[in-house]
Amino acid sequence: MKSLEEYNRKRDFSKTSEPSGEHTEETVDLPEGATGRFVVQEHHARSLHWDLRLEERGVLKSWAVPKGVPEHKAQKRLAVETEDHPLGYIDFEGTIPEGEYGAGRVLVWDKGYYSAVEKTNNKYYVILMGERLRGAYMIIRTKQNQWLIWKREDAT
Ligand code: MN
Repeated sequence: MKSLEEYNRKRDFSKTSEPSGEHTEETVDLPEGATGRFVVQEHHARSLHWDLRLEERGVLKSWAVPKGVPEHKAQKRLAVETEDHPLGYIDFEGTIPEGEYGAGRVLVWDKGYYSAVEKTNNKYYVILMGERLRGAYMIIRTKQNQWLIWKREDAT
């Protein structure tokens, strides 16, 4: 299990309707070959961005992608690693109130499953199986919390 301390520290759960950061032992049946679930949330915060989250060891590993997760090949996009989110966040939609962390509307833009081909501290090579996002994606750390994400040429 990874820590949700940072997630909890940033939020006041008496004000936001986001789920509190408790670990759950929740498991879901995954389709054959899937490593976990994923979600992309469209987040109308101070600046619009899309949050990519992959289920991993009881939390959602998260990146904020300012220009959105590419739907086509040959677009490399910046992805900024953010704090792990609780599994319950995968279905979260709503409006984070003014004055709170991440204030603004959150909508589920895509969700589904992913299969990990290769995962290291600095590299995620995954197959996304969503409604909009389908195919092989590379997410590579360039420095500290900065990553690049692109759709691979050599897979569908
Ligand atoms: Mn966000």
